[in-house]
Amino acid sequence: MERSFKAEVAALRLGDGAVFRGEGILAVTKALLQSGVSYVGGYQGAPVSHLIDVLVDAEDMMAELGVHLETCTNEASAAAMLGASINYPLRGAVTWKSIVGTNVAADALSNLASPGVIGGALIILGEDYGEGASVIQERSYAYAMKSSMWLLDPRPDLPTIVRCVEKGFELSEASHAPVMLELRIRACHVTGEFVARNNRPGRYSALNRLAGPPRFDYARLSHPPVTFIHERLKVEQRFPAAQAFIREHKLNELIPGDLDDIGIVVMGGLTNSVLRALERLDLADIFGVSRVPILVLNVVYPPVPEELRAFCAGKRAVLVVEEGHPEYIEQALNVELRRADLQTRVLGKGPLPVAGEYTAEVLLNGLAAFLAEAQPARIDTRAILGKVGEIVSHRPKVAAALGELPARPPAFCTGCPERPVFSAIKLMQREIGPTHVSADIGCHSFGTLPPFSIGNSILGYGMSLASAAAVGPNMDRRSIAVMGDGGFWHNGLITGVASSLFNKGDGILIVMQNGYTSATGQQFMPSSPAGRTGEAPGMDVETTLRGMGVKWLRKVRTYGVARMVATLKDAMRTAERGLKVIIADGECQLVRQRRVRAENAERLNRGERVVQTRYGVDEEICTGDHSCIRLSGCPSLTVKPNPDPLRIDPVTTVIDSCVGCGLCGEVAHAAVLCPSFYRAELIRNPGWWDRTVAAWRHGVIATLGGYAPKGAA
Ligand code: SF4
Ligand code: SF4
Repeated sequence: MERSFKAEVAALRLGDGAVFRGEGILAVTKALLQSGVSYVGGYQGAPVSHLIDVLVDAEDMMAELGVHLETCTNEASAAAMLGASINYPLRGAVTWKSIVGTNVAADALSNLASPGVIGGALIILGEDYGEGASVIQERSYAYAMKSSMWLLDPRPDLPTIVRCVEKGFELSEASHAPVMLELRIRACHVTGEFVARNNRPGRYSALNRLAGPPRFDYARLSHPPVTFIHERLKVEQRFPAAQAFIREHKLNELIPGDLDDIGIVVMGGLTNSVLRALERLDLADIFGVSRVPILVLNVVYPPVPEELRAFCAGKRAVLVVEEGHPEYIEQALNVELRRADLQTRVLGKGPLPVAGEYTAEVLLNGLAAFLAEAQPARIDTRAILGKVGEIVSHRPKVAAALGELPARPPAFCTGCPERPVFSAIKLMQREIGPTHVSADIGCHSFGTLPPFSIGNSILGYGMSLASAAAVGPNMDRRSIAVMGDGGFWHNGLITGVASSLFNKGDGILIVMQNGYTSATGQQFMPSSPAGRTGEAPGMDVETTLRGMGVKWLRKVRTYGVARMVATLKDAMRTAERGLKVIIADGECQLVRQRRVRAENAERLNRGERVVQTRYGVDEEICTGDHSCIRLSGCPSLTVKPNPDPLRIDPVTTVIDSCVGCGLCGEVAHAAVLCPSFYRAELIRNPGWWDRTVAAWRHGVIATLGGYAPKGAA
């Protein structure tokens, strides 16, 4: 795991009246336990990976409550798991990263939303939108609309997040529809407190099992002809039931303000940013008391017409703060106001940008543009515009003073086992020529960045092989698909491998076998060396591929660059037709270092011998051409001034962060570069043999070098 929540998990036991302090994502877990869930599950991905991690760390506690925990192999399996709530009064929650996870889950979600649910079904979405996002910029909102599921977007403070989780289950049961709750990265990691309640077991659970299935009811199936009835139920019953529940339980909030000729309608998740921008304009205080009335939509879908009309009535203009494209809420508000014949102006996209994250500065400028347009009574708009100018005036000066800053793209960790594979592809391409490479989601996507710049397309998690299906047959040489073992189990096994074998594809698949879904925080997967119980799950990539009928399969240790190059060349040139798979085997270095560091510390404490491998560059031999850096991209390789006054090119040097993976030496060897790399062993708590060998070596070196051995008078 990237991070253990063992300590925080203890807080999940807090009962009635105790004050819970912690992160938003931990508050969600506590709210699930307080809501009487019978089952939870999901698939990891930022920004909700930690929810899965917390759930796994809290497994003992959930067992005490009879809650079933499932670490699903992809989002579709997580969504399908919610099927337990279609027929039974079981409350369940699943989580994943959106929009990508929702795309994967879409089929199951449609089939869940059509018959609807009896038990509350909640989907916690990590809405990965905006700066720092790692996926396509789309909104989950569209899924809510098309499938008639409800979308909560709670204000990022812990009491609201907890209330939305708890009310989300009730809303789901009252309207018989699944409910999604989206959390942006800041909401996941916002810290705060709330007054806890006792955890409670679900109505039915592992502690109190259901007595068999219900009477057969065709209406619970998402199958024609009842799907036509479901469509009507969504519109005629579930939609109005949800709106009535939202109104009755006041899920949306009204922040009053004295400037009542204007207002702001904001997605709940953006409320804190809007209040901060207003505070900088002296229109709110730091406690969230605002002069501008604000309608906070903790439920962004469905809209509640009565609330929208009541808020807008009598106002000259309202601003809709709705991040992302298209402007669904703005459109809905315009429709409701036309229906009610209200003449309030609706502004949104225009003062605010059409796309992109609404950061504090974007909102500051947007609010200023809105105020300039709306010209509310009782405030000096010109003074406010002047204030915005003052706040941002330093920006050009700062930019000029700093000059152009170097880009800092993400990169492989030092010693990552996946880096050598891209070095090998580069070396292979030097001889065979450029190849089409379809990349995938995962750490290996860093191979698309310099110094490798390898990868022509990314079509989704585990989709690389499938995305190359039509490339190879139209190209004069074989294409390569790169996929992680995480992507392999998530989707690649069926969409890529099975499809390629079925269609007699002739491409090359490289499976990066590092043992974990590393990019999301080293969660376990079917072929991990150990699962969440500590035992190996027992599935294996190689056995699975052979079982499916892959004939040409090679397993190569990733750090063996020369062997990897030879294997790649063989795969490119062999006359044998059919899918060729190279399993690039090497444990995630981040996991390895965490384990090895702890093990070494314990051994040192016990006074035992510890050996660490380091690599170095002999600066007298280094030619300064830096091919080693260009071919490996290791962050521990850098340059320093040449110690030889007759040479001006800086030499390569290895800095302390080196983990001794050996790639630089391997690359130098495979690419026939200069022989300047050396390998050294750093021995702590050396034994008598180490000391003897060291003394002997010093003696030989001193003799050959013509100076006195160390320690000699
Ligand atoms: S997390 Fe693991 S697999 Fe990912 S870049 Fe780091 S070492 Fe490589
Ligand atoms: S400097 Fe060489 S041995 Fe050290 S981490 Fe980088 S590639 Fe590996």
